[in-house]
Amino acid sequence: MADQPHVPMPDQGRDWADLRAEMVGRGDGDARWRDGRTSVYVFNAGEDVAQVQREAYSLYMSENGLGPAAFPSLAKMEAEVVAMGLSLLNGGPEAVGNITSGGTDSITMAVKAARDYARARGQNGAANLVLPYSAHPAFDKAAMLMDIELRRVAIGDGYLADVDAMAAVVDDATVMVVGSAPSFPYGLIDPIESIAAMCRERGVWMHVDACVGGYIAPFVRMNGAGIVPFDFEVDGVLSMSADLHKYGYCAKGASTVLFRSEQLRQHMMFDCDDWPGGRMVTPTLAGTRPGGAISAAWAVMNHLGVAGYRAKHRLVTNAREAVEVGVANLGFEVLGEPQLGIVAFRHTELDAHAIYRQMYRRGWVSAFTTEPPALHLMLSPIHAEVTDEYLADLAQSCDVVAGGDTSRPSEIRYS
Ligand SMILES: *Cc1c(COP(=O)(O)O)cnc(C)c1O
Repeated sequence: MADQPHVPMPDQGRDWADLRAEMVGRGDGDARWRDGRTSVYVFNAGEDVAQVQREAYSLYMSENGLGPAAFPSLAKMEAEVVAMGLSLLNGGPEAVGNITSGGTDSITMAVKAARDYARARGQNGAANLVLPYSAHPAFDKAAMLMDIELRRVAIGDGYLADVDAMAAVVDDATVMVVGSAPSFPYGLIDPIESIAAMCRERGVWMHVDACVGGYIAPFVRMNGAGIVPFDFEVDGVLSMSADLHKYGYCAKGASTVLFRSEQLRQHMMFDCDDWPGGRMVTPTLAGTRPGGAISAAWAVMNHLGVAGYRAKHRLVTNAREAVEVGVANLGFEVLGEPQLGIVAFRHTELDAHAIYRQMYRRGWVSAFTTEPPALHLMLSPIHAEVTDEYLADLAQSCDVVAGGDTSRPSEIRYS
């Protein structure tokens, strides 16, 4: 984080042309995601998609999803985006959902719904949430906000959730059990069917966190990969989170939170009229909801369609396969058997974090894992064009580290 600057507001404003030029210049030191040098934070699906995002966003930029009666256009686009998502994720005729501002929002609202569902069934007092160690910290954030105890359970073989170990810590106060499809660190889909069977037996709410997988896995399956059941097809999965602004290639600020039935979603809704401003009913954490995030999601989904997503995701899985072959040749071992867009790989001899530093110096910005120390790539369609360049730099980086430069990133952050 930069130090907080002391910048007073200018007395007089400046021309937009002047500001625009300055702003473009300010990006000079940023990660070079447009060149495919970034495999975290940004999903680069190409200029065709970027144009649709930009223009569709600005068409409804000023409208507010908080007012569906004032903006029936947005209400209808939201309903259609959710319906498209549910049709991909085997939602069935009863399933419902909403657009939220992102994965953390979707997860927070799903946890709130599960907690209130448990309360409605007389489960008051302490509450806990059971999840694999590989699950996203958004659950920690939600649990902190709602004063719910978090039980992270060590993962088992193949970097996947250990269902027996999770079952052992589920008790009467458990309001939700989580599986990831896939987990962010490893990009692997947890054994959702086994976790769901355990949840059905215990009468506990199961949530599938498909934030990073929900809008790629269905298409990779259509492209021919044998993806295990992970969505509402699995009995016992009551809610899901799936981010539009990741592999849905939509503009940022858009995710979906999905429920098996309206009766379950009711526990997410906020409905308040105990103030002088009249009744306020909102589905998600936000009050004001940017219309542009909704309209851009609607536009990108309709622009790509199933065929478009299949083609974009084919580029992603091709890039992942090329990376897997290339890194194996350099002495790396891929963690588990990834099928989607994320791949993590550790080196059998060299310090992966020292290699990370070398790659970072060469302009590659990615995430990494800590257990075990490994490099991590979350690939986009653009990466199909740069895998050779990436692998060449990786070979050089390995040589430098093998030659004795083992300095690690000075500040190891989550990503
Ligand atoms: C990205 C991600 C989240 C959080 O989503 P945000 O949009 O960053 O809030 C949650 N779970 C998984 C698995 C993710 O990859």
